[in-house]
Amino acid sequence: MPKDPFGREIDYLRISVIDRCNLRCVYCMPLRGLSFIPGPELLTCAEIVAVVKAAASVGFRKVRLTGGEPTLRADLLDIISGISSVQGIRDIGMTTNALLLPGMARELVAAGLSRINIHIDSLDPERLKRVMRFSHLDDMLAGIHAAEAAGLSPIKINAVVVRDYNDQDVVELAKLTLERSWHVRFIELMPLGGGPCAQLSLSQFVPSAESRRRIESALGPLVELPSSHASDESRNFRLEHGKGVLGFISPVSEPYCGDCNRMRLTADGKFHLCLLHDDEIDVKSALRNGGGVEKIRELLLKAVASKPTGHDLDKGVSTEVRSMFQIGG
Ligand code: SAM
Ligand code: SF4
Repeated sequence: MPKDPFGREIDYLRISVIDRCNLRCVYCMPLRGLSFIPGPELLTCAEIVAVVKAAASVGFRKVRLTGGEPTLRADLLDIISGISSVQGIRDIGMTTNALLLPGMARELVAAGLSRINIHIDSLDPERLKRVMRFSHLDDMLAGIHAAEAAGLSPIKINAVVVRDYNDQDVVELAKLTLERSWHVRFIELMPLGGGPCAQLSLSQFVPSAESRRRIESALGPLVELPSSHASDESRNFRLEHGKGVLGFISPVSEPYCGDCNRMRLTADGKFHLCLLHDDEIDVKSALRNGGGVEKIRELLLKAVASKPTGHDLDKGVSTEVRSMFQIGG
């Protein structure tokens, strides 16, 4: 397994398959001024699978598909089945807003998808629309149930907490874990890309400690669970009598860079070395100039060796070039 200069074992590849999305969450995509990667510049299915083969050959074991919204990618099933046939890959996850899952959850599982993280910020239809613009609560809930019916387990729900938009909704979301064995995780806002979404992420920031206090005062004390894996970015708890897990992902107030095990691949074919830095290494040019597995492996190992550690989110410093939808979270 490749190790970076800080001794971190990097075995998890997060692949953004598209930068487009059917929603416009307030902290992720502005309503105007967007430009997307032209189709011919997106990595093809064969190119993505070639990168995964190179990654598996040096010890990568986990892959996650993300975006933009990965379910908008027309050849998503081919990508998943291509990756699932790569020797060494044990786990294929996907992060999605769930809107399109009712029509595709079973096929995703048949193609080889093993895990799903579903992003929903509120259970109140009006507040949900305000934070995840153009969303519809009933359609998103149908997506969650379709994922569960297709056998994806555990269902992990991610909610980004935004002051004056959905900060009160952490209680209703946390209640989901009373009756269901789902994992509900609350994510602190990160300012990426320097534009209006980054500004909003700074001004509407809510620390995880505040969300936790709000949940405890409504639902009782949380019991902390032992960490299942050092690289799990979520600090996990259970409500007394709860069936599921409550997690807090706190990149700003409790950075976990020391345990990072990730490499990212952007939809236009760059290894993005850290979510919170702009450093990238181009792999698409090598793929399109006849570079084989050996060349991709060399670029990947260079990317691992160049991974930064630490960030300045507490000072409001993050990426300037790419926003969240252009990296994948
Ligand atoms: N569209 C999919 C979704 O929303 O899950 C996948 C891509 S989205 C960029 C990946 C994750 O990034 C989302 O689940 C959301 O929780 C997170 N995210 C987006 N913008 C964020 C921000 N400014 N701060 C923290 N998390 C953010
Ligand atoms: Fe789309 Fe996901 Fe970004 Fe929301 S967080 S705009 S669903 S890519």
